[in-house]
Amino acid sequence: MDNCIFCKIVAGELPSYKVYEDDKVLAFLDIKPVNPGHTLVVSKAHYQNLEEIPEDELIAITIVIKKLGKLLKDKLAIEGYNVCENNDSVADQEVPHLHFHVIPRHVGDGLRTWKHVDYQAGEAEDIIKKLQN
Ligand code: 5GP
Ligand code: ZN
Repeated sequence: MDNCIFCKIVAGELPSYKVYEDDKVLAFLDIKPVNPGHTLVVSKAHYQNLEEIPEDELIAITIVIKKLGKLLKDKLAIEGYNVCENNDSVADQEVPHLHFHVIPRHVGDGLRTWKHVDYQAGEAEDIIKKLQN
């Protein structure tokens, strides 16, 4: 897609540090890592979000994420990692080309994920009704 930075990285029109590549998937280092080794895993074809990507390509991405997690653990001596995908701008998706973040984690690295809240009375039941109908 024109003017998509990740399409340009896939096409080799913009540079990147490639970690893994096959016919459907590319993994490369995030330019501004949360922790060193922070890797982005993208579909080579342009899809904006999870609703758009065909299931076989999503499966291909997931398999790469699984291999990448082990690679990062084995080679970078990390204790764990976060896998996250920001879906749509309201969820902080800045680059509108579907991508998964694989973020290396170290004991005591000080990163916090999101805050949790409590359900109000009846709220969980309302949500379950909406989701199950
Ligand atoms: P999002 O907020 O869309 O989930 O994440 C976009 C990510 O892409 C950010 O972590 C950002 O640092 C990374 N990024 C943005 N532009 C580039 C780029 O040109 N090259 C690389 N390697 N990463 C980029
Ligand atoms: Zn794209």
